[in-house]
Amino acid sequence: MDLRESMSLYPLGTAAAPEQELLCIFGTGDLGRSLGQRLLHSGYRVVYGSRRPHSCGPLPQGAQAMSHEAAAQSASLVFLCIHREHYDFLETLAPQLQGKVLVDVSNNLKKNLYPEANAECLQRLIPGAYVVKAFNTLSAWALQNGPSDANRQVYLCGNGAEAKQAVAEVATKLGFAALDRGSLSAAKELEDFPLQLFPEWRMPLYVAVGLTAFIFVYVVIRDVVYAYVEQGEDNSFRIMVSLANKVFPIVSLIMLSLCYLPGVIAGFIQLYRGTKYRRFPDWLDRWMLCRKQLGLVALGFAFLHMVYTLIIPIRYYVIFWGSANTISQIRENRTSVFDTTTAWRSDSYYSMGILGFGLFLLLGITSLPSVSNALSWREFSFIQSKLGYLTVFFCTFHTYLYGWDKFLRTYKWYMPPAYMLSLVLPSVLIVLKLLLLLPCVDRSLTRIRQGWERTDTDLPSKSSIIR
Ligand code: NAP
Repeated sequence: MDLRESMSLYPLGTAAAPEQELLCIFGTGDLGRSLGQRLLHSGYRVVYGSRRPHSCGPLPQGAQAMSHEAAAQSASLVFLCIHREHYDFLETLAPQLQGKVLVDVSNNLKKNLYPEANAECLQRLIPGAYVVKAFNTLSAWALQNGPSDANRQVYLCGNGAEAKQAVAEVATKLGFAALDRGSLSAAKELEDFPLQLFPEWRMPLYVAVGLTAFIFVYVVIRDVVYAYVEQGEDNSFRIMVSLANKVFPIVSLIMLSLCYLPGVIAGFIQLYRGTKYRRFPDWLDRWMLCRKQLGLVALGFAFLHMVYTLIIPIRYYVIFWGSANTISQIRENRTSVFDTTTAWRSDSYYSMGILGFGLFLLLGITSLPSVSNALSWREFSFIQSKLGYLTVFFCTFHTYLYGWDKFLRTYKWYMPPAYMLSLVLPSVLIVLKLLLLLPCVDRSLTRIRQGWERTDTDLPSKSSIIR
């Protein structure tokens, strides 16, 4: 393969300075131009292969355009910045592309549009070339602006080690970090990558939207429609703050529980099977994979609850009824008696809420990759697991304190208060977790998680039971 050495030492300022490497780009479209410009800025010479070399529009300064044949012959590495549906013409260029490194940057408009990956199709068309899939996860815009911290990686794959090395060197020289994803069979995965739309966020967002809609309708029926139908009162103004501030904490607590529930279910499954080496059901696998996103969405709702709670004292409704109450007490010469139990209850309620929210924030912060990378596995699991369950406990207790003596009493149209709905899942979660923490259960689960497997001999045989 004709791959030139890219590094050699020459004394500075002598006429023997190394000649800049020449690279070829097929296609003078958006990506071709951006890539050419970046290559030129990084010290390469660039030649374009185009259908219309003399009328292909403005090219980056310093680049020249020629026919595909001539351009292909002039360089050992060719970037194909053309769409896959136009690849057929490349077959006629097979002799010129023989032994060259072909970089396939193409993407598709939809997943599974073609039975094989674009890069594999290219390799089939030109078997004598070394096809490398690379740069397809970067946009023309990102290439034009150069690498930034958030967009520094160039994934690549291919069957030729030297060809991949040559492409990785170009990527590194452009300022990107090249990440080898293996052989050309990984090309499909790389081509699907730009088509993804927050895959791991989809389920948590659906759950959040579904829960929000359900709880909102529930509280509107219970707090607004009921008052209107049964008492003739128009409470609809409460929708904007009071009801919103009921929906947010409820959704937050349910989603926080959903974040920890799969771990507990997994524990029971492992206990039942007596091994950790059997795969979990698919639904549980998928649920476990989006725990971080479930937790972060729950944190968002908890944050909204906190902000809405802070504005309560400045609400017109609260100020009006506060002063109306004081005035009526003065008029009627009444004084209210300080109730220590109520003081305890409200202080504990707020304290649990603040502690729960504080820990919740800590969970959110430590799930950020920049923070979690700085923690040991033990530190990370201590925060996410132990402090996570403590967060569930504080938030659940906060909600129980909210219910206090109204608990199980105030039904309207047989509908319990909405906060009671939010307590079902966290209460179940806490009970299940406590069961797993029982010393005998915990010991078995720990052994299983350390690799121990239950065999048939560990089970009491039928005959020994009968005896
Ligand atoms: P584009 O602007 O439409 O340019 C494609 C170029 O292909 C044209 O300028 C043309 O160049 C050439 N071409 C068009 N029809 C052809 C034909 N029948 N035969 C031969 N060549 C033909 O597209 P692009 O946005 O640059 O994308 C090029 C490739 O990069 C695509 O496979 C795309 O999936 C991939 N990609 C693009 C981006 C992006 O941000 N744009 C990001 C990642 C990957 P000439 O007129 O000079 O021949």
